[in-house]
Amino acid sequence: MIDNKLLVEAICKGTVIDHIPAGQGVKILDRLHLLDSDARITVGFNLPSKLHGKKDIIKVTDRLFTEEEANELAIFAPTATINVIDDYQVVGKFAMTIPDYLTGVFICPNSNCISHNEPVSSHFQLIQKSDGIQLRCHYCEKSFSKDIVVA
Ligand SMILES: [Zn+2]
Repeated sequence: MIDNKLLVEAICKGTVIDHIPAGQGVKILDRLHLLDSDARITVGFNLPSKLHGKKDIIKVTDRLFTEEEANELAIFAPTATINVIDDYQVVGKFAMTIPDYLTGVFICPNSNCISHNEPVSSHFQLIQKSDGIQLRCHYCEKSFSKDIVVA
């Protein structure tokens, strides 16, 4: 059995996002603008995972995530966990929760939606369904599956 901890450099202080579904790691880097920042980032893609077969992992040195960022992350990787690291030890751990509402993050897929022509921020209500997350647009009141909105 390969020890995942050996595959990715340990960090002294910062945040580790673990158990990201394989392939979502790149989206998270992009969405949180991690590559635009000065943050030191270590990533592992397609690492072996007991839970999912394969997983991505992101380690960010000297950076803690806001609750807002964690919520946004939850859309891409609801199964992921955020570990807060200090002095090489996990000092905090939280699972991500799907927020009730998201404003200004995603664009409404309905091309007739008034949110495209008005100077407003997109606003979605998030609804957890048995077959996944649905996003309901506040303006056109249409519901979309997560995969359509989060392209
Ligand atoms: Zn809409």
